[in-house]
Amino acid sequence: MAGLDELYREVILDHYRNPRRKGTLSGDHVHAEGNNPSCGDEFFLDLLVEDGVVVDAAMLGQGCSISQASGSMMMDAIVGQSVDDIQDLAGKFRIMMTIDEGENPVDEERPGSVLGDLEALQGVRKFPVRIKCADLAWTTLAQALDQTAS
Ligand code: ZN
Repeated sequence: MAGLDELYREVILDHYRNPRRKGTLSGDHVHAEGNNPSCGDEFFLDLLVEDGVVVDAAMLGQGCSISQASGSMMMDAIVGQSVDDIQDLAGKFRIMMTIDEGENPVDEERPGSVLGDLEALQGVRKFPVRIKCADLAWTTLAQALDQTAS
């Protein structure tokens, strides 16, 4: 089937097989859970935010390689970053995936290298049913950040 090699690029498989920051946090943290019924994916996120910065994070999940690899890549991208920068990154990710084209057509504003490994997920765009898989970790992250906002 054409396009599958792009969908399962090596970087995606690496994150799927060796998920970053797998586990849970002890002590103070917020917890959020997401699931994607159309594929059966689950994602559990523990987040420690101090002074507007994500200082630690851990995740557990199960499901398809796209959902779990996206979560693993997200963990790499968020720890040590400010919540503001993470919101910005999440916006770029959603534009890249055409989840939210916002004001800018995707082809005019390519988010570019700031996304790092996350760019490997661009191939998923060709498979609309899988976009929810790639987005699961990010919707779960948004829930967790909401809890820290108050
Ligand atoms: Zn999935």
